[in-house]
Amino acid sequence: MKTSNDTSPAINFSCPACGLLCDDVALVSTSPVRIQNGCTKSITFFEQAYSNEYDNIASASLFGKATDLNTAIKAATKILRGSKQPLFSGLGTEVTGMRSVMHLAEKTGATLDHMHSEGAILNTLTLQNGGWQNTTLTEVKNRATLILAIGTDIVSSHPRFFEKLVWNADSMFDKTSPEIIYLGVPKENTQAGISPSGTQPLVVEAEIAKLPEIMNALQALMNSKNPLHKKPSTDQVGGVSIASLLNILEKLKAAQYAVVVWAAGNFKYAHAELTIQSITQLIVKINKTSRIAGLPLNAGDGDLSVNNTSTWLSGFPTRNRFTHGKAEYDAYYFSSAEQLKSCDALLWISTFNAHLPPATGVPTIVIGHPNMQFEREPDVFIPVCIPGIDHLGAMARMDNVVSLPLKKVRESTLPTLSYVITQIKDSLT
Ligand code: SF4
Repeated sequence: MKTSNDTSPAINFSCPACGLLCDDVALVSTSPVRIQNGCTKSITFFEQAYSNEYDNIASASLFGKATDLNTAIKAATKILRGSKQPLFSGLGTEVTGMRSVMHLAEKTGATLDHMHSEGAILNTLTLQNGGWQNTTLTEVKNRATLILAIGTDIVSSHPRFFEKLVWNADSMFDKTSPEIIYLGVPKENTQAGISPSGTQPLVVEAEIAKLPEIMNALQALMNSKNPLHKKPSTDQVGGVSIASLLNILEKLKAAQYAVVVWAAGNFKYAHAELTIQSITQLIVKINKTSRIAGLPLNAGDGDLSVNNTSTWLSGFPTRNRFTHGKAEYDAYYFSSAEQLKSCDALLWISTFNAHLPPATGVPTIVIGHPNMQFEREPDVFIPVCIPGIDHLGAMARMDNVVSLPLKKVRESTLPTLSYVITQIKDSLT
């Protein structure tokens, strides 16, 4: 592997560490990691990758004992050959890697589920149920005059969102800086919503668990013939005053272009898809007289790229499986949690980050980030290249309208996920 500390000249690339896929970042130095236009999340991502560069710990292993790549591939093949109901989970990869995984899944009859699908499935259920009216990052940057963040501070998962899309000075149209409203976000997490000129965001604090009733109340107020004159039967819902909700509603209706942002993975309660449905229905209603759109945040680890690739190749996002060559989909029974109750082999994939597999008693193959440190060693571990650092690839941006190419910024001796998966597939008889 490359051993110099400074990259000369600095290499520009699309950062794969979150769904914004910022394409203006450049790696200036690797020890310590310095990134031009980077954020703390991107620096952590690259530090994780480069911390493994100068030693030999990233070797394939069987039950924790180092082995060579071919032996590990043979062991993985043997497990899958003997499996009648394998589960391929994690799926932290990009488009090229997922293409190869799909071919192996078709050959083995495996069930596929991404590690962040608990949140993503809520958006899918909403989309299936009634559709939605969403926007793009370009529209946010050039047109948004109001941003309502519900249950998310946005920057925890997408750190440069405000820097690149909200407080940017290079809008295509001469628009003012957007007004920012947080609903269901602690005040101490709303610093990013303070404009460069010091304008404070409107913060309406509430417990995330109360969002279902709060969103229902917002909808009810919207559907009232004249909400300003209607006398509600209570003066607060979910700890939020009706006056605050009416204030938010009037601002949304008056905005030239409002954008509502949510992170489905933050809604950790039963039937959270109904909260998202309330958001999307509110958007549809307001759009009859004004301009407003939604913007769901993705969770990361290639979730959108994996689900898009799965849909291109099978007609379904993950939580799908091939049975006798025919693709099936089940949002509940094909979840990892359900499948772990009955599967007889687990293939766990996590190439961007060193996320560990779930605890299970079935034979486990792990293909992933070279920094993985296991509490319980899997039957087979094969460390592979990190997409966007060690090999080329492609990823879907968080607004799901463009794919961006990933660059290779260093040489690695490790194989790619595609290579390993294809070798396993070709070895299966
Ligand atoms: S905001 Fe996301 S894509 Fe942009 S530099 Fe930070 S981690 Fe990378």
